[in-house]
Amino acid sequence: MLEVSHLEKSFGSHSVLKDISFSVHPGDVVSVIGASGSGKSTMLRCINLLETPDGGSILYHGEDITARKMNVPAYRARVGMVFQSFNLFSNMTVLENCMVGQIKVAKKSKEEAREKALKFLDKVGMSAYVNAKPRQLSGGQKQRVAIARALAMEPEILLFDEPTSALDPQMVGEVLEVMTALAREGLTMIVVTHEMAFARDISSHVLFMADGVICEEGTPKQIFGQPKEEATKEFLARFR
Ligand code: ADP
Ligand code: MG
Repeated sequence: MLEVSHLEKSFGSHSVLKDISFSVHPGDVVSVIGASGSGKSTMLRCINLLETPDGGSILYHGEDITARKMNVPAYRARVGMVFQSFNLFSNMTVLENCMVGQIKVAKKSKEEAREKALKFLDKVGMSAYVNAKPRQLSGGQKQRVAIARALAMEPEILLFDEPTSALDPQMVGEVLEVMTALAREGLTMIVVTHEMAFARDISSHVLFMADGVICEEGTPKQIFGQPKEEATKEFLARFR
């Protein structure tokens, strides 16, 4: 579905992604772990073209998304993103938040958008809050709405950038529960996370990033059970 090859990205003279290659198959849950500053967010942002890669290629069903002739809006509609800071529209209700992209970007009718929004709000357990404004919600509830909003676009792949890092500890579980259900249903996901138990239990594949490279990758069993690289061992030791 996605093939990232020799991806490079610099900000000025600072080389942030050096030579990133990996692939994602339908139904994969790829967890990305690594220290702050290692390039995890930049990599996700390159994948949905919030950043323009400087080198390498990203093939989506065989088509290079960085090519000039690429239909970027159509591609973006296939790739959803959930941010650490929720990024809900504060002036809109929960329901409106889940409808606006469908209407403006996916050009769906209001009725269809409303139906989809309600379906996915139900799925994340937020049906009772359709008319609430984001400020009336807890962090965990906001993030579940953000996930429903992304799902309502019916993406083929969903990118999560530390979706639980801004949450109070007691709210992490409710968001991970939703993500676990999505993973079990076969949604293709790339998840940047510091939740090691989640990465270990849910991922099909784990990437450990350090200083702009994939230092080590493998199954969760390999990475968490028998890491080969010293850097991986040191990083994981912080979570014990
Ligand atoms: P991570 O998500 O792993 O914490 P990031 O991808 O956010 O890492 O950042 C990697 C490096 O790139 C950091 O040193 C960060 O300061 C730098 N960086 C990220 N975005 C920008 C930007 N827009 N301009 C300049 N530097 C950036
Ligand atoms: Mg980040």
